[in-house]
Amino acid sequence: MTEEIPFYSFDYQNQQVREEVQQALLEVFDSAWYVLGERVLKFEKEYAAYIGVKHCIGVGNGLDALKISLKALGIGKGDEVIVPANTYIATVLAISETGARPVLVDPDPNTFNIDTAKIALHITTRTKAILPVHLYGLPCDMDGIIDLANRHGLFVIEDNAQATGSVYKGRKTGSFGHVNAHSFYPTKNLGCLGDGGAITTNDDHLASQARMLRNYGSEIKYKNELPGYNSRLDEIQAAVLSAKLPYLDQWRNEKAKLVEAYREGLSGIQQIRLAGKEIDAVLHSHHLFVVKCSHRDALAAYLKTQGVNTMIHYPIPVYRQQAYGSAGFDFHDYPITETLTPEVLSLPLYPGMKQEQVARIVSLIREFIF
Ligand SMILES: *Cc1c(COP(=O)(O)O)cnc(C)c1O
Repeated sequence: MTEEIPFYSFDYQNQQVREEVQQALLEVFDSAWYVLGERVLKFEKEYAAYIGVKHCIGVGNGLDALKISLKALGIGKGDEVIVPANTYIATVLAISETGARPVLVDPDPNTFNIDTAKIALHITTRTKAILPVHLYGLPCDMDGIIDLANRHGLFVIEDNAQATGSVYKGRKTGSFGHVNAHSFYPTKNLGCLGDGGAITTNDDHLASQARMLRNYGSEIKYKNELPGYNSRLDEIQAAVLSAKLPYLDQWRNEKAKLVEAYREGLSGIQQIRLAGKEIDAVLHSHHLFVVKCSHRDALAAYLKTQGVNTMIHYPIPVYRQQAYGSAGFDFHDYPITETLTPEVLSLPLYPGMKQEQVARIVSLIREFIF
């Protein structure tokens, strides 16, 4: 009987915080205050300190964090926002929802992140912002992106959904842009028990705009200054996030050890390329461990027969999605994303995964290749 290895497991994390979370949930339950209370304020302070920014605004999910960030900057119809071609659809949806046009840029083939040199080729008079995504948890070339944005008077919005805990040149990602978006979807690096998200910024005005936008455009009850949304992090999720935040760096470091074992075990296999080459002075939070393999589908099927569950991030690029069928994207414009899409495979990785499990996956891959 072969042991099943899940793609992701909550067992270890949940066990570590079980008592604190139980206690916190009961306290919220008894407090009889469920939306925008002291738990959200407390978590916002803690998360702002963790990321190293002045303000954190808790919102309903990562997509809303992006959308509200763009709205707070006044981005809308007639504007263009530069975004990587290989990202989760949420990044691009947030832009189109504001009425602005998403301008997709092909990644650097070594990092899989947006290519700074190519961004420059797509800046027009309509460009308002650059929206880099730290894909799989690997920080983007923030110095290059910020320098380019400054030279052209553009805003920067980081999509930090996959990178909570990542560091670029001594600073946490999610602290570089004018306003930045975070997701606390359960399987993200810092996950809650449902949907949750946050916006971080050092700008007082943008913080107050975002705070209003998440709450019907209102700061004072029944006084509505902006046409806003209902997108608030709730008290239960905030309580859970406060309980989990102190463990986040430990979980990141544990995942880094597993990744080291994967990398060592897979090195020298010509048919397997490791994704996400780390640029200098970054700490990768390893939201996902992704390899490239030209026989990807056969490898995934073989691993599945051996009880190893894998995933693909992402099987269909945004510009090929039916949802964007009428947007006029042409796949010929994204040759690197086109070569990544059929080859990327995400292997199991989660806090609490065992070194022996990594070793077994490595030997199964070697078996498959030779
Ligand atoms: C998960 C994710 C989002 C959206 O977050 P949700 O909380 O699921 O709405 C946005 N961008 C990226 C890159 C993501 O991985």
